[in-house]
Amino acid sequence: MNIIEVENRYTSGVYPKRPVAIIRGEGARLWDDQDRMYIDCTGGQGTANVGHGNLFVARAIYEQASRLISLTEIFYNDRRAELLQRLMGIAPPGLERAFLCNSGAEAVEGGLKFARLATGRTGIVAAMRSFHGRTMGALSTTWEPKYREPFLPLIPGVTHIPYNNLEKLEQAVTAETACVLLEIVQGEGGVRVGEPEFLLGAQEICRRKGAMLVIDEVQTGFGRTGKMFACEHYNLQPDMLLLAKSIAGGLPMGAILLGSRVGEIPLSSHGSTFGGNPLACAAALAAIQYIEDHDLPARAERLGAHALARLQLLNLPVIREVRGMGLILGIELRQKVTPYLQTLLEMGLLALPAGSNVLRLLPPLVIEEADLDRAIDLIAQVLAAEPVAVAE
Ligand SMILES: *Cc1c(COP(=O)(O)O)cnc(C)c1O
Repeated sequence: MNIIEVENRYTSGVYPKRPVAIIRGEGARLWDDQDRMYIDCTGGQGTANVGHGNLFVARAIYEQASRLISLTEIFYNDRRAELLQRLMGIAPPGLERAFLCNSGAEAVEGGLKFARLATGRTGIVAAMRSFHGRTMGALSTTWEPKYREPFLPLIPGVTHIPYNNLEKLEQAVTAETACVLLEIVQGEGGVRVGEPEFLLGAQEICRRKGAMLVIDEVQTGFGRTGKMFACEHYNLQPDMLLLAKSIAGGLPMGAILLGSRVGEIPLSSHGSTFGGNPLACAAALAAIQYIEDHDLPARAERLGAHALARLQLLNLPVIREVRGMGLILGIELRQKVTPYLQTLLEMGLLALPAGSNVLRLLPPLVIEEADLDRAIDLIAQVLAAEPVAVAE
């Protein structure tokens, strides 16, 4: 079977695809159907913090799958109880309970609903260059106009302020604001790191004006930035913390951690059939255990600092700025990034864009230092050459 031809024939067509069929992985390495190896700096778009083919997680999935896969939350379950307790054990202080769901966008949807319930208000303040997902509610808060415009009208009452601009945030939050929704590092938006004055200021404004502070750590959670959660770098105490991507070792799962200001959530006001299913809970328990046992946050911090230092020394005319926190790294270019990504793929390195001109690295946190160095060598080589024009 020609994998690429078959997919092209039957897939919806919504994804800009790379011309490669990946069929297996181990750690931060992936192999295609021709048995060619690639260093993976996409990390499953942030879902693969514990690495591909992680046998510790795989065994937990196998064992739970043989016992019980599906069980809705109208019944209690051992794995779910364990996971809820575990999440509260690692959560930033002030978070007490959780709603379990199946993706990042769903975590955002639930967060928006709970903010309305908690405040009786409907306004939402989000940031320019934000990314919160593609379902109608989450899309309403996502910045990128080209994602939003084909689907207007979206939910009303959303204001976008410039990220890291506390003055604009102060003006935007009113007596109608249910929540302020922010990322700690804007991932899709170009790897932009939140300033402490901005994030802590947002917390203060929310408390003073009676709005919920909803922090989207779908991409930055579970060790990525050098702490289990990026909030910890700031001692930030959100009212809701949105999680997904790497929460369950790569299996689809999301969670909304809830603080005391959210208050009682009325019975039957929200729900999800797959939410909190035992299989995802078992995978998440194993993934969290693996992250702790191997101290992956410390590894992300060490390797991230090493990579950032090396990238900052590159001194190439095409590079405008290098940014990052732990192992979420962005290289802002003076050119479009797509042609470079294509060349890197041909040379055996998979990387991501973030917007049109930022090259983003999101490797599994288990990446070998030698592979990370090799990735940086390849990037240096490719960015030093003239860009080749490639169709988008
Ligand atoms: C990926 C992402 C989402 C959306 O998650 P999905 O699982 O793709 O719906 C939301 N917020 C952030 C910050 C993300 O990186």
